[in-house]
Amino acid sequence: MTDEILLKARLLTDGVRIDNLALSGMGSQYKEQLHHLFEYDFDVHKTYAATSELRLPGGAIVQVRLNERSPYLIRIEEGDLFVECYGQRLSALSWIERPAFYSRKTSLGLPMSAIAELVGEDCLSVCHTNACITFSNKKECAFCNMNFTPRQYDEVLIRKRAAEVGEVMAAAFREGPARHFLITGGILPGNQEMEVLAAYLEAIHEAAGMTELPGAAIMTPPPDLRQFERLQRLGLRSIGLNLECFDPAYFRAVCPGKEERIGYGRYREALRAAVEIFGDGGRIFSGFLAGIEPKSRFLEGVQELAEEGVAAIPLVWSPSAGTLYSGHRAPYAEWYVELTEQMAGIVVRHLKRSSGRAPEPVRCVRCQHQSLLPRPFASPAQRCEVTGGSILGGWDDVARDC
Ligand code: SF4
Repeated sequence: MTDEILLKARLLTDGVRIDNLALSGMGSQYKEQLHHLFEYDFDVHKTYAATSELRLPGGAIVQVRLNERSPYLIRIEEGDLFVECYGQRLSALSWIERPAFYSRKTSLGLPMSAIAELVGEDCLSVCHTNACITFSNKKECAFCNMNFTPRQYDEVLIRKRAAEVGEVMAAAFREGPARHFLITGGILPGNQEMEVLAAYLEAIHEAAGMTELPGAAIMTPPPDLRQFERLQRLGLRSIGLNLECFDPAYFRAVCPGKEERIGYGRYREALRAAVEIFGDGGRIFSGFLAGIEPKSRFLEGVQELAEEGVAAIPLVWSPSAGTLYSGHRAPYAEWYVELTEQMAGIVVRHLKRSSGRAPEPVRCVRCQHQSLLPRPFASPAQRCEVTGGSILGGWDDVARDC
């Protein structure tokens, strides 16, 4: 049988095709694809109802990235879903159940699925603004299609009101299956992003009645870094500030708008400031577009950041439609598996040493659909034993073989 982690990496790097029959029940019994944030598909598919993720037998959740040229094909025979490659069956799989809130409306009459998406099995994800100012002078990140996606898919709601975000959070947390959340969005001018985040967190408090908020904001460094304290006072647990590339020269080339408006040095300063406020051990993380800069340089970055109390999160790159990298290729799946194993050892060693305790988990086994972290387990039973019923999976799970 194909090793599950390697299969996940292959499905992410090469995308998949799906036979129409295999999509039976999509949008009613199973969770359909929402064009919620960026588009990770290799191809635009305006009239095609797809799904957002699949689940492999060992529990790995894999983001579905549609690619008409992929050798991987999902089919169904006699009720059994499976993925094959050139006619050879590789693995069984299942779709993710559709959450009840996808069928509900907000008090203003909008579909709740236009406000937030369920990522994987338990993470509620909100994109506060499906637009980024870096596109205005063509300095968007080369891998990003934030402003392209709403032009392809009419259902994208570019801004979401705080009160409606609170309503959807309340529904998804009370009725399930949400166990944690993620808020992100495009870069906004001045202090607008901080104001939006604060309004969202207050609305979540009010509507869902939660005092400590089990979630993270992936954001841009605010003009005044002491504003992180405001988010902490509002109960937020975790912050992500995405460098995308560790080497400053790659950062400047791949993310020219971030360099122009914020700057690499300011991102690093903000990461250190956030660790001082939220604590080390992994509460502060930085996302990376793994596969663009050399592996050795990236691993140096993982180590340097870990020494500062920051966890690096490598995402498997998808050269998606509408990005400047469309038509390019990501590294081989094996490259990502090796990278993940090497970096997990670094992260666990350094974060444990710096905080004196097990690293704070920053990603969840049940929602980690774009990254090979945490490593999936050999069997569902083993998975339960390791996570012990906790909401979040930990770095140790990834590094135990390293
Ligand atoms: S900062 Fe970069 S990745 Fe983020 S929305 Fe803007 S262009 Fe996209």
